[in-house]
Amino acid sequence: MNTMNITPILLSLLLSVVCFAQQPYKRTLKLMGSRFDITVVADDSIRANSYIATAVNEISRIEKLISSWDAASQTSEINRNSGIRPVKVDIELFQLIERSIGISKMTDGAFDISYASMDTIWKFDGSMANMPTADEIKASIAKVGFQHIVLDKENSTVFLRSKGMKIGFGAIGKGYAADKTKTFLVDKGVPSGIINASGDMTTWGKQPNGDSWKVALTNPMDKNKAFALLPITNGAVVTSGNYEKFVEFNNKRYTHIIDPRTGWPSSGISSVTVFAPSAELADALATSIFVMGKEVGLDRIDQLPKVECVLIDDKGNVFTSNNIEIDTQ
Ligand code: ADP
Ligand code: MG
Repeated sequence: MNTMNITPILLSLLLSVVCFAQQPYKRTLKLMGSRFDITVVADDSIRANSYIATAVNEISRIEKLISSWDAASQTSEINRNSGIRPVKVDIELFQLIERSIGISKMTDGAFDISYASMDTIWKFDGSMANMPTADEIKASIAKVGFQHIVLDKENSTVFLRSKGMKIGFGAIGKGYAADKTKTFLVDKGVPSGIINASGDMTTWGKQPNGDSWKVALTNPMDKNKAFALLPITNGAVVTSGNYEKFVEFNNKRYTHIIDPRTGWPSSGISSVTVFAPSAELADALATSIFVMGKEVGLDRIDQLPKVECVLIDDKGNVFTSNNIEIDTQ
């Protein structure tokens, strides 16, 4: 073969590399009332767009099932029938509730999807003028308690024992949606990508250049400054912070994460980042650590396999679980 023959072959090979090189395509959307960044690695933008469109459908489907704001959701039907009757639900919702109760047990009730009836006394939308009284706070937990969520596996029903009891997936729903979307895209054949649901992030595969995906941890004291860049491979990382939804009374900041056992919002922690195999678990644990506090929270994380945590207290001090090292320079 002479060079004249080889050149076109080489050229076309080179062109195919240029045109069909895999690259990440990212789209930002508002879903489930939050910002979602969906990144898929694909050969071309047409394919990437179609993957992202199907992912959006999947997230909307999940929202219709678990949203407690949507009166038509099965979750709202469970809430409407609290103290009245069990409600038949899809197996998917049944199992999410079952796992949520499992996390309540794992965290001694710090995490509790039945926190939702407390939303009448603490409001984090700027409308609170006064601190609730101690009596009001105490009364607010009367309808809270994962022990009163009755599951009937055989009939796939959920019953909230007392009237006025409510469940909500504010602390686990985005993580769940991120995991489901990832599985959905993996099944569609997408080799690699990132789902970032407002800080609830899950990844699979690698970047087209072969590197792991990396996550930047930001310091809540200085949001523009990343203080660590960590690789994540086929896992999830979730950050919960006290800097978006909170109220302040007498110079003390109370976050939107409430201790279901006392009715008091958590304080003392600025941000919690949890690394775990699934975004659902990481999401729920990040919320729980706020409630459990630094010592108990980190201790609990150290007992869980494949779960790590970076915590920043309200003075800016950084703490980590035992098996993680970060360079905070
Ligand atoms: P964000 O969604 O703001 O990142 P989280 O994942 O920590 O933060 O979830 C906080 C939300 O979880 C609250 O807005 C509320 O809806 C709900 N929630 C608050 N306290 C608890 C709790 N102790 N257990 C379960 N859910 C909670
Ligand atoms: Mg959470």
